[in-house]
Amino acid sequence: MAERILIVEDEPKLAELLRDYLLREGYDVFLLERGDAVEDWVRAHGADLVLLDLMLPGRGGIEVCKALRGFSDAAIIMVTARVEEVDRLLGLALGADDYICKPYSPREVVARVKAVLRRTRPVETGAPAQLLLDEPALKASVAGRELGLTAVEFQLLKILASSPGRIYSRDQLMDAMYRDERVVSDRTVDSHVKKLRRKIAEVLPERELIHSVYGVGYKYEWPADPMPDDPGVR
Ligand code: CA
Repeated sequence: MAERILIVEDEPKLAELLRDYLLREGYDVFLLERGDAVEDWVRAHGADLVLLDLMLPGRGGIEVCKALRGFSDAAIIMVTARVEEVDRLLGLALGADDYICKPYSPREVVARVKAVLRRTRPVETGAPAQLLLDEPALKASVAGRELGLTAVEFQLLKILASSPGRIYSRDQLMDAMYRDERVVSDRTVDSHVKKLRRKIAEVLPERELIHSVYGVGYKYEWPADPMPDDPGVR
């Protein structure tokens, strides 16, 4: 399901430009011009992220931000026309996730939106949190998000995930990872595991899927709790 982004901006041209950029990225995008319309809208429809202009008719961005923080876990990016305003906003501890200054490029906003969503929505609400391996394409995704693995990292994850709970030695992992029997050191396996873990952590920060077994090697385990009905690898 696409993430919902609400743009609150009283300059229609700017709002529409941003909307077009974000739509192209596959988000569901909605526009509001007035600050006093935001709270009701978010209560009624929900949002994953709100791009919130500071100066708005009806109700200012600061008040809107405080109101949203009271009931919604939507990520909030505050947009201000003045760089020096950011320090003041930070001092208010509004709980916004990021700040953007005008004028901005739509590309920059898209990048910031993605970064904030990645940070605040590691697992999409309601999406099944599971590992999917697309072998022909060498692509792995967790909870619908692609991990961006190298071919070697993909092989490593595939072996480990093929038998959850089974401990593999570094030698076994090396054999399976490098079919051409290139000589690699133990440290190479460790560094691939490290990179793989880092990529998984980007989409699933609170769970460890790959566990070190001291002195032996590694194993893959999908955490049973707190996702009791999780299907694990499919
Ligand atoms: Ca404005």
